[in-house]
Amino acid sequence: MRSSKHIRLFKPSFNHEEINAIKEVFKKPWLGYGSKVKEFEKKFSKFIGSNYTVGLNSCTAALHIALAIHKFKKKKKVLVPCMTFSATAAAVLYNNLEPVFVDINKDDLNISFEDLKRKYTKDCVAVMAVHFAGHPCKMDKIVPWAKKNKLIVIEDCAHTCGGTYKNKKLGMWGDFGCYSFEDKKIISTGDGGCITTNNKKYYELLKSFSFHGWSKDPWERHLKRNNDKHWFYEIVNLGFKYNMSNLIAAVATTQLKKLANLNSHRIKIIQKYLNGTKNLKNFSLPLKFNLEKSCYWLFILKTKKRDKFIKFLKANGISATVHLMPLPYHPIYKKFKGLFPNAKETWKELVSLPLFTELKQSEINFILSKVKYFDKNYHKF
Ligand SMILES: *Cc1c(COP(=O)(O)O)cnc(C)c1O
Repeated sequence: MRSSKHIRLFKPSFNHEEINAIKEVFKKPWLGYGSKVKEFEKKFSKFIGSNYTVGLNSCTAALHIALAIHKFKKKKKVLVPCMTFSATAAAVLYNNLEPVFVDINKDDLNISFEDLKRKYTKDCVAVMAVHFAGHPCKMDKIVPWAKKNKLIVIEDCAHTCGGTYKNKKLGMWGDFGCYSFEDKKIISTGDGGCITTNNKKYYELLKSFSFHGWSKDPWERHLKRNNDKHWFYEIVNLGFKYNMSNLIAAVATTQLKKLANLNSHRIKIIQKYLNGTKNLKNFSLPLKFNLEKSCYWLFILKTKKRDKFIKFLKANGISATVHLMPLPYHPIYKKFKGLFPNAKETWKELVSLPLFTELKQSEINFILSKVKYFDKNYHKF
């Protein structure tokens, strides 16, 4: 029997290990930017396979500075999938650039390579590849094409962490990988994120831009405090206060250690959802889950009676939501309109079901029983 408890959509996974890691930081106490951040950056680079990682306070910060360091001329254009989280496009506006919204594929919700080529103009300087739900974009097509056109490739990996496409980690295909450790994401530190790159010049700039635009890393400066004039630095860029703190880094490092385990839990849950929804008449999958070496953040179904289905689930104590309404439908992005027939048609049918590592078998069964009930009695809704 299921309890009458409400089933959440997302839930961070943590235990005494994260709490102990935080206690450890307080022992020092050096809570802000310092050695724990450096340690996390090193471990994350090793995990992803990048030369460099910069710990940040969010993925939004990562997206912002991935563009900012190039100092592109005002009004230059950035290709953005029309169906993504607000931050992917906000990063473009923060830099006085213009988003060009690109349609998605109907069969995987990711940026359409065909439409990317159609929407490209000489004014474009970068492309944002968002691995929607954790499903990889066709990076083997996008990257060579982008390089040919001298575009910077920024991978928005907020929906994945450690997923692989054609034997290469997501985040390692483009010039930058941007990751989120926000409360609901794969790794959760409440808020947090990081950016990876293989390019040393970019790395130095990212560090400067994430810490007030300084010429020197403040922690390394501190370590050299026995030198003459250790205190000297110059402000060389208009930087931001986007760095990660030791407190967050301690949690992030602990979560990173558990990531393989967390991912395998998520894969098992998705497998159960897939098995349980195989034979439904009024539901389909918006993408073909490839669970091997993957890292998915969302389990999404498609149904024409989306709103009624969400209402029905909620009445049964099951959270469900929509990822996501296309950005050009939002008031601030209306003026960047364009054609995106696939997104227009597809988003109306999308429903995300609860997905987090501690989702119990009994809860999955309960959710599936409600999905099946809705399917069977579809005409009554
Ligand atoms: C959550 C999310 C972000 C922003 O992440 P934060 O760490 O909250 O700033 C960016 N892009 C996508 C696709 C997201 O889902």
